Formats: sequence, structure tokens, C-alpha cells
Amino acid sequence: MRALVTGCAGFIGSHLADSLLADGHEVLGIDCFNDNYRRAPKLANLKRARDYDAFEFVPIDLARGDLHDVVEECDTIFHLAAEPGVRSSWGDRFELYVRNNVLATQRLLEAAVAVPHRRVVYASSSSVYGNAAQLPTRESATPAPFSPYGVTKLGGEHLCSLYRDNHGLETVSLRYFTVYGPRQQPDMALHRFCRAAISREPITIFGDGRQRRDFTFVHDVVAATRAAATAPDVPSRIYNIGGGSQISIQRVLELLAGIASTPLDVRFDRSEAGDVRETSADTTRAAQELGFRPSVSFEEGLREEFEWSRERARAPVERRFTRAGSAR
Ligand code: NAD
Repeated sequence: MRALVTGCAGFIGSHLADSLLADGHEVLGIDCFNDNYRRAPKLANLKRARDYDAFEFVPIDLARGDLHDVVEECDTIFHLAAEPGVRSSWGDRFELYVRNNVLATQRLLEAAVAVPHRRVVYASSSSVYGNAAQLPTRESATPAPFSPYGVTKLGGEHLCSLYRDNHGLETVSLRYFTVYGPRQQPDMALHRFCRAAISREPITIFGDGRQRRDFTFVHDVVAATRAAATAPDVPSRIYNIGGGSQISIQRVLELLAGIASTPLDVRFDRSEAGDVRETSADTTRAAQELGFRPSVSFEEGLREEFEWSRERARAPVERRFTRAGSAR
């Protein structure tokens, strides 16, 4: 396979690229290093991939670059580039969400229809459901996003469907549920909690801590994403990808205190606009059609993210990069 991975310097995209390369595939990675978080951790995410001759990196902004050649060169397209995050999708930043989630997706799909026989795997999100009426939630539930972010991710999904229905482009949308693990974006809850536990700083919880999430370890997400590209047939075309460990934030903190062997200084703040109360994925469809089986328990995955955070705290990314002479 020669795979195009958009958003390859990001959290999930970099793991996907590493996994494909480790199995002998070629990867053409695209990223524009947008400013949702700093450039240094994104460069660090690419470090392993850069060791492979089969990896090529092309710095393109999907919202305005010429995409024809990169799409033509690859047989499979994994579209993970996006402006992620619920809380920052309000206000002026919404413009970037529209640009990086809707416009970028439309431009990629336009490039893909011009080349025959390409399958596009699109990274969608559980945030398309909002406060779902039924838990666990099936793909057949009517989407009702509760944040501007969710609206743009749903917009991307609809674009995938309409390019499929009008032009026959093969597209698959995967609704990831709260992905965590090493390299997680710095503003996401588990990453913040791990950092605070290591540096013994206070942890701020938005809400009462009883909100529950279906957490999904990044390696399980990568396995599902690869399966969506290689399954001979993907009849349903929209799949929930959830880890099956629906856990409250309070329980996360209890587990983290045990892993870090330290009491945590937890403070509560009011919940933020756009945050939903609970998420839970019904993954029957992904199990049947993609062979998806989450394999990493929440405690195992949290331990891995904690160990990674501790390693990172010992040798901050910026310093490691400066010493290696590759800081830009
Ligand atoms: P991330 O921010 O770490 O990675 C996204 C990458 O896309 C970044 O490196 C960014 O620079 C790049 N990018 C953004 N706009 C671009 C553009 N116009 N052109 C080129 N590159 C661009 O985020 P992530 O957590 O790895 O998320 C990957 C995908 O998974 C996203 O589509 C996100 O919506 C989706 N998702 C993530 C989660 C989660 O919990 N992390 C949950 C549901 C869905």
C-alpha cells in the first residue's frame, strides 16, 4: 500500500503512519502544522516515521494546496487532518474549524474523485451525536452535535457521503470516541491530568467529575482505521470506534492517583459549553464489518500515557529537538 496520511504530524495520524511503515507500507504524510498546539511536539511525533525510507513528508495546507499529485501517487487516503477540540470551537476560532474541517475535506474529496479507485477513510468523531438520547449509541441515531466542532465534523461526514453518492467515490467515516495514549494533544484531559500528577500541580475538572466517556486507546483506533481501508467491503460506511470502557472522570483520577502513587490536588470548575454528559459507543457494526475488537484496557492505556508523559517531562521536547539539531 502507498498511503496518504493527512494530519500525519498529529496525535493519531503519527501513530497511524508509524504502524503502516512498521508493516512495510509506504506513507506520504501531509501536515501544515496548524497552531492548535505547538510545533515542537508535532515534529517530535514525526521522529519515528522519519527513520523510514518509505516515509515522505509534504508540508501542504489542505485548505489551499494543490492536492492532485499527492492523491494520484497514493492508493489509499487516510484523512485525519483537522482542527480538533470542542472547547476552542466557539467564537472567532470557528472560522478555522470551518476551514480545516469542512473546506479541507471538500478539497481532498475533489482531488480524490479525479483519480479512479481511491478509498478515503475519514476521521469523524463521537461529537456528531451530542447528548445522545440512547446509550450505548448506534450509528443509526440521529446526529445532533452539541458544539461547533461537532457540526464541522458532521459536515465532513456529509461531504464524504455525497461524494460517494454523486460520484461513486468510496468513503468510510469512523466516529472515534475520546482517543487517548502517548502523544495525545496537550490540551486534552488525560494529558493535562498526567502532567499535573507528575509536576504535583492542581488539576482542574470542568463539571462535577461524574461525566463519563468511552475512552479509546490510540492503537485500537489505528487498527480500526487500517481495517476500514483494507476490508474488502464496507457496506455501512459509517462506524463507531469506541474502546468500550465507559469511565467517569472521577474514576480516571482515582486510577491515575494509583498509577502515579501520589494523591492528586483536584479542583472543580463549572462545565464548559459544548461538553456532553456521557458518551458510549455501540461498536457492533464495526465488530461485524471491520473485525474491530478493542484490545487495550483503560487502566493499561492510562499507564502507557502516564509513562510517556513522565518520559517527556524528564526530557522536554524542545530541548531534545534542539540538541538533535532539528528544531525549526
Ligand atoms: P491533532 O491536532 O493532533 O492532529 C491533527 C493534525 O492535522 C495536526 O497536526 C494539524 O497540524 C493538521 N492539520 C490541521 N489542519 C490542516 C490542514 N488544513 N492541512 C494540513 N494539515 C492540517 O488531532 P488528533 O487528535 O490526532 O485528531 C486526528 C483526527 O481525529 C481529527 O480529524 C479529529 O477530528 C479526529 N478525532 C480525534 C479525537 C481525539 O480524541 N483525539 C476524537 C474524535 C475524532
